[in-house]
Amino acid sequence: MAKRDYYEVLGVEKNASADEIKKAYRKKAIQFHPDKNPGDKQAEENFKEAAEAYDVLSDPQKRQRYDQFGHAGVGGASQGGGFGGGMSMEDIFSQFGDIFGGHFGGFGGFSGFGGSRGGRRVNRGSDLRVKVKLNLKEIANGVEKKIKVKKYVPCSHCHGSGAEGSDGVKTCDTCKGCGVVTRIANTILGQMQTQTTCPTCGGEGKIVVKKCTECNGEGVVRDDEIITINIPSGVAEGMQLSMNGKGNAARHGGINGDLLILIEEEPHPELIRDENDLLYNLLLSVPQAALGATVEVPTIDGKAKLKIEPGTQPGKVLRLRNKGLPSINSYGTGDLLVNVSVYIPETLSSTEKETLNGLKNSPNFQPDKTMKEKIFSRFKHLFD
Ligand SMILES: [Zn+2]
Ligand SMILES: [Zn+2]
Repeated sequence: MAKRDYYEVLGVEKNASADEIKKAYRKKAIQFHPDKNPGDKQAEENFKEAAEAYDVLSDPQKRQRYDQFGHAGVGGASQGGGFGGGMSMEDIFSQFGDIFGGHFGGFGGFSGFGGSRGGRRVNRGSDLRVKVKLNLKEIANGVEKKIKVKKYVPCSHCHGSGAEGSDGVKTCDTCKGCGVVTRIANTILGQMQTQTTCPTCGGEGKIVVKKCTECNGEGVVRDDEIITINIPSGVAEGMQLSMNGKGNAARHGGINGDLLILIEEEPHPELIRDENDLLYNLLLSVPQAALGATVEVPTIDGKAKLKIEPGTQPGKVLRLRNKGLPSINSYGTGDLLVNVSVYIPETLSSTEKETLNGLKNSPNFQPDKTMKEKIFSRFKHLFD
């Protein structure tokens, strides 16, 4: 059977970049992957054909020879070695296994590999993400939250092995349990020895021959777990905490993923957070501002009494030390800043009008020049 043009196989132009070729191959490989097309001979042929095309086109030297001499230039058509006899599935996986990344494994929700390349693979469960909503009081004091998470936990029937009974699992014949295979490749530089993940066991070193009936061989099942999270004081909206090993359990026993906790802050009805400080807008009546008063202001834990001096001007900021939030690094505590506004009546009775009219020309009611400057100086930074 005549071989198809490699560029045509991958569906790329003759001048395609290495990246385009890799992308195109990945697409074909995923499309025709045997996991997705079980028992489909045609898909398997297409999968092999794509792998062969990629093997040549991804190697600049092979590609050059192919461009110049066609299939003969890369030994495909005539020689017994190389691709003459076709690539076995094992070859393809061991050679190009890494191109698949974490896409295959037949188990949704799991990703990532622990361990190093070329050693036995240790599965790692995926991270779990949860959101935790806190009010300012909880943020100020720190809080313990119990939350229910749905996650993968080790199957209690097989203790995470995925195998039914003690004879349900055996050491992988291909790699003899070490999880890697050594391959001798003939390159123009001579023979090269490469180690890749064992295609038979996927690097685990063992194979489940009789699947656990509870978890269908996965070693994990979905379950609810109540997790107690200790949230330190001073956290803020958008911060992420993590708890090692509290995420999903790994397939066939391995390292658990982490639990990532995203902090959400519930707005306080009266207080506004500014990092570790809190802001409160206090509205005084004209007599309160002029005569002085004792008022109550909200704080995180209840109310605080605040003395207003006679003649307090709008725009004045009163500071209640250490009534803010603790810093997460425990470098002190913020303040509660009380910003004073004065309410000017919008409607007046005739008696009130009369009273104010009587005060209109009173010397103490005339805006004082020094006071004007004082007030201006508070806002000056806004105009600089
Ligand atoms: Zn099980
Ligand atoms: Zn193996």
